[in-house]
Amino acid sequence: MADASLTALYQDIILDHYRRPRNKGTLEHASVSVPMRNPFCGDEVTLELEMTGDEISDVRFTGHGCSISQASTSMMTELVKGKHAGEIEHISERFRAMVMGDAEAAGDSEIGKARALAGVARFPARVKCALLGWNALERGLAESESQHAAAATADTEIQSGV
Ligand code: ZN
Repeated sequence: MADASLTALYQDIILDHYRRPRNKGTLEHASVSVPMRNPFCGDEVTLELEMTGDEISDVRFTGHGCSISQASTSMMTELVKGKHAGEIEHISERFRAMVMGDAEAAGDSEIGKARALAGVARFPARVKCALLGWNALERGLAESESQHAAAATADTEIQSGV
C-alpha cells in the first residue's frame, strides 16, 4: 500500500484539481453536451466535447459536487484533450480498472495524474464519484459516433437517390 508521504502527495493533487479545475466552462461549438448525475453523493457534471472526426479537439465541463467527482473530471479532461477515440477508450478502461482496485492499472503512466485517485478503490461508495466524468465521456463519445453514423447514412441515401 502507498506510504504516508505518497498518500499526502495524492491528496494534494486531488485538492489542487478540485480548487483549480482544468478545462472548466463551456464550449461555443460543442459537438455533444452530456449531463451526468451521481444521486448517491449529489455530484453533477455536464461535459462538452468538440469533436474533429473521432478526436476530442476541445473539452470543457461544468458541475459541482464532492472533491473526488470534480477532481476526477478535471484530470480526465486533461488526459483526453487532443486524443482519438481509440486511445481514449484504452485510457478510460485503465482508469476504471484502477478505481476497481487493479494494482497494475494504478501504476500505468498512461493515466497520468489520475493515478492520484487509486485510493478510491478502498472506498466503494466513492467509486461512482470518481467515474462520473468518465461515464459522461463514454456517453459523449457514443453520441458523437452515432451522429457520424447518421450523417454517413444520410450521405449514402442522397448518393443512392433514396
Ligand atoms: Zn461524490
